[in-house]
Order: sequence, then C-alpha cells, then structure tokens
Amino acid sequence: MANSEYEYVKREFEYDRHLPPSNWIVVRIDGCHFHRYTFYLLCSIWSPPQAVRYFIFLFHRFSKIHAFEKPNDENALNLMNDCATAMLEKFPDIVFAYGVSDEYSFVFREETQFYHRRESKILSLCVSYFTSVYVMKWKDFFPNKELKEPPYFDARAVCYPNLKTIRDYLAWRQVDCHINNQYNTCFWMLVKSGKSEQEAQLALKGTFAKDKNELLAQQFQIKYDDEPAMFRKGSSVYREKVETTVKTDDYGNPIKRPRLKVTVAHIDIIGPEFWENHQHILRE
Ligand code: ATP
Ligand code: ATP
Ligand code: MG
Ligand code: MG
Ligand code: MG
Ligand code: MG
Repeated sequence: MANSEYEYVKREFEYDRHLPPSNWIVVRIDGCHFHRYTFYLLCSIWSPPQAVRYFIFLFHRFSKIHAFEKPNDENALNLMNDCATAMLEKFPDIVFAYGVSDEYSFVFREETQFYHRRESKILSLCVSYFTSVYVMKWKDFFPNKELKEPPYFDARAVCYPNLKTIRDYLAWRQVDCHINNQYNTCFWMLVKSGKSEQEAQLALKGTFAKDKNELLAQQFQIKYDDEPAMFRKGSSVYREKVETTVKTDDYGNPIKRPRLKVTVAHIDIIGPEFWENHQHILRE
C-alpha cells in the first residue's frame, strides 16, 4: 500500500473492536420501520415535495406498503428464511440461525476467526449480504408485488461466553415469538371480526396466555396449537446430515453419502430434545 503523509489518519484514528475470544457471537438483524404507520396511500395519489416526503417517511411501514398479510405473511417469512439459508451457505462459520417476524439471529461458532472477529466487519458483511439477498429474491416470493421501497436492516453483535447463555439467548427469542404471535393472532382476529384496533387492544389488556387461548377457542373456534408451526415457533436454520446421491455406479444405482445440507425447521429450541439430537451444532 502506498505510504503517504496522510496515512496517519488511518493509523491514529481508526480503531477495530475485536470481539472477545471463546465466545459465541450472535449477530441479530432487524428490519427498520417494518410496521410504522403509513401515508403511502396518500403518496400514491399525490406526489409530495421532499420535506413532506420526509414526514410521510417517518410514518411509513414496510409491511403495510407491501400489504403483508396480518398477523403473519407467509411469503414474507419464507423470504426471510431463504435469506438466512443463503447466509449459512455463504458464511460457513454461522452454525445456527433463528428468525421471527422481521428479525434474524445468526450464531457464529465459538472459536470463529472470521475477519479476526472484527465487530464492524462481521456486522456490516452480515447485514449487507442479507439485505442484498432479500432484494434479489423478492420477486421469487412476491411475483405480483413490486418492491416499492428499499428494505434496510439494523444489526448488533452480542457475545455469549458458554453453552448455557447461548441456549438461553435462543430460548429468549423463541419465547418472545410465542408471546407476540399469540397476542397478534388474537388482536387481528378481533380486528377482522369488526373491532377497531383500539377496541382490540383494550380487550386484550391484562390478559394471560390462558385467557388468549380461551378467547381464540370460544370466539373464533381456533385452537392456538393448530396454528402453523412457523408462526408459533419461528424458524431455525442449521446444517443437517442428509443422504445425498453423489454419483451412480456402473449399473446406474445411486451412490449415497451423508452431506450437510442447510435446513429450515419450525421446532422447539427451548427444551433439550432438539439440542440432544443435534449435538454437532453448538459443539463447544
Ligand atoms: P476487500 O474485500 O478486502 O475489500 P477487494 O478485492 O474489494 O478486497 P479493494 O481494496 O476494496 O479490494 O479494491 C477494490 C477493487 O475492486 C479495486 O482494486 C478494483 O480492482 C475493483 N474495482 C472497484 N470498483 C471498480 C470500478 N468502478 N471499476 C473497475 N474496477 C473496480
Ligand atoms: P424498528 O425499525 O424499530 O425495528 P419496526 O417497525 O420494524 O421498528 P419491529 O418491532 O421490528 O418494528 O416489528 C416488526 C413489525 O413488522 C411486526 O410487528 C409486524 O407488524 C411487521 N412484520 C414483519 N414481518 C411480518 C410478516 N411476515 N407478516 C406480517 N407482518 C410482519
Ligand atoms: Mg466459551
Ligand atoms: Mg423491525
Ligand atoms: Mg422486529
Ligand atoms: Mg473492497
């Protein structure tokens, strides 16, 4: 690299934060303004000046502009899952990912040396790659919907020092998924049955999980446990050993070998069962 008198601006001012060794690294990304209130309809009939656009922008919701189904748009979730799959295929040091709504958590193996564990490199690569794939794959999941606004995501990195804390992190996200989904399922059933958003909010205020299940069963004949697993459990992405045909023998019979394939599943990751059956994922 050329050495000029200006080179000191890098040497003396740039700092790299290296994430501590022997920690699992979680990168969590989250869609920006995926649900804020929209004046998009207004925008579509009237082309506002820049300053006004800014105020409208403050209220715009990505999910509303693109008419996501409420409470869960299956295509949008599948698009997120496909992006996460692409992440595991691109970055071998990501051993597990968990996603719900507009967020995804990526777990890097404990001893990863990815970019020498430089935080800014890891964060920026993850969030930009995910976002690019989201845009590229949009039309595969929404063939009849134009992408009207560029999606963007924020990202943070958190380190977890041992197996207990990384498992607890993932459990925390899945509990959050459950609580939010149960609330949203009730909320949107009430709204779709004619209540205003404010009335629905009021009806659910102070209710416990049991009350919400009863409300769904009694008013709407819905058994919460029969709702799709993707909505209730979120999505887990990891490598699974699968028998894959690698070639055929002289007689045309398939020759199979176990290969690791990136898999998406909607399973319980709070209890021990999944982890006991997949010990290769979070190996210390
Ligand atoms: P790293 O991943 O470390 O950034 P890199 O391969 O991207 O590695 P850079 O130092 O960022 O390396 O250099 C970018 C290179 O990309 C340039 O040296 C040049 O070869 C190429 N490049 C970027 N933009 C253009 C462009 N507009 N036209 C032609 N070549 C370009
Ligand atoms: P922030 O920029 O702070 O993240 P946000 O508007 O994105 O704000 P979140 O707390 O991240 O708020 O919530 C995301 C919201 O996006 C959900 O509450 C939901 O309304 C909407 N959303 C995301 N994914 C979907 C989906 N697949 N189907 C329906 N709605 C979705
Ligand atoms: Mg450790
Ligand atoms: Mg968000
Ligand atoms: Mg979110
Ligand atoms: Mg470069």
